[in-house]
Amino acid sequence: MDYDLNKLTTPCYLIDLGLLKKNLEILKSVQDRTKCKILLAQKGYAAWSTYDLCSQYLVGSAASSLHEAKLGAENFPGEVHLCAPAYRDDDMDEYIQIVDHIVFNSFTQWQRFKAKTQNAPRKIECGLRINPMHSEVKTKIYDPCAPGSRLGIPIDQFDADALDGITGLHFHTLCELNADSLQRTLPVVEKQFGEFIKQMDWINFGGGHHITRPDYDVDLLCDLITGFAKRYPNLNTIYLEPGEAIALNTGVLVTSVLDIVHNAMDIAILDTSCSAHMPDVLEMPYRPVIISGAGCSGHITGGGQPNEKQHTYRLAGPTCLAGDVIGDYSFDKPLNIGDKLLFGDMAHYTMVKNTMFNGINLPDIVLYDPDKDEYKLQRQFTYEDFKNRLS
Ligand SMILES: *Cc1c(COP(=O)(O)O)cnc(C)c1O
Repeated sequence: MDYDLNKLTTPCYLIDLGLLKKNLEILKSVQDRTKCKILLAQKGYAAWSTYDLCSQYLVGSAASSLHEAKLGAENFPGEVHLCAPAYRDDDMDEYIQIVDHIVFNSFTQWQRFKAKTQNAPRKIECGLRINPMHSEVKTKIYDPCAPGSRLGIPIDQFDADALDGITGLHFHTLCELNADSLQRTLPVVEKQFGEFIKQMDWINFGGGHHITRPDYDVDLLCDLITGFAKRYPNLNTIYLEPGEAIALNTGVLVTSVLDIVHNAMDIAILDTSCSAHMPDVLEMPYRPVIISGAGCSGHITGGGQPNEKQHTYRLAGPTCLAGDVIGDYSFDKPLNIGDKLLFGDMAHYTMVKNTMFNGINLPDIVLYDPDKDEYKLQRQFTYEDFKNRLS
């Protein structure tokens, strides 16, 4: 991944269409091998200028809000699926015009909107989100199965007599996990909800499947899906709706060093903000990788752990937040003002959740086409974007 950094103004998110295609091909292979259908969960990745490409491989988009549903309906050719903890009455009037599947998070919500969905101008498949309360996710705020979770109906709340009109079930319990987590989850789901799955036309295994990660066990996933389909021949379709797996390792965030200051250690102030442009670094939290860079003295090799290489810097953002710190990294050569650095794996859960905190502008969005070696400046943000969301 040797991008020509001279062609880029910073900060920018660069989406590599070649790498995106590679991921989409892996996902398509799962569809082809198992006859499952895979949707793009827009929560994790919503760079809609690439939806046409994605739709050549995937069957549709998944939304958890009105704006996501509209974005999918307008830009992603294919099915539009909806699943959210609760719906507003006024939003439902719009949903029934544009979505194909609606998943309800409680029987109260189902009853509230049953008539509206059944009398909708289009055929809508209605489903229920179930919660097997089987935790695979270690980070608490990302575990839908933690005690007290509002996400999905636990078996003790399941009303077997209120299923008339329900054609599917949905569970989403994973996050960045391998197929072994699904392997442990399915028997729990089946033990609790198996008799109801037998009455359904479809089931949705949710997201959190890290299918495009190099060590992901695609064969096991395929076995699990085909095995499930065999046990429930009544099912027409098994859906998966990953977000992260679609854009995993397909993009970078390119930044420049604005200044270097010293306070007990060397600190490089960048033109990208941790809190505004890569919020998961603080929320998840995790340490992003620095793949490489370009400086006045040539190529910059990847960043190491502090003191692993000769020159260690704290990399920090341009906002006034004291904690706007990405981390401490070491380099073979000293950094200089104007040097450019590449943070890896920045296509998912960045553009969808960045902010204009402190009036810091958003990074450009650039599409890189390796076939043409072309960098397309897809979107640039301005003062008007900042002003327009305030008043
Ligand atoms: C977050 C979410 C997804 C996508 O999860 P990833 O971890 O990005 O794959 C899919 N479905 C639902 C209901 C979600 O909440």
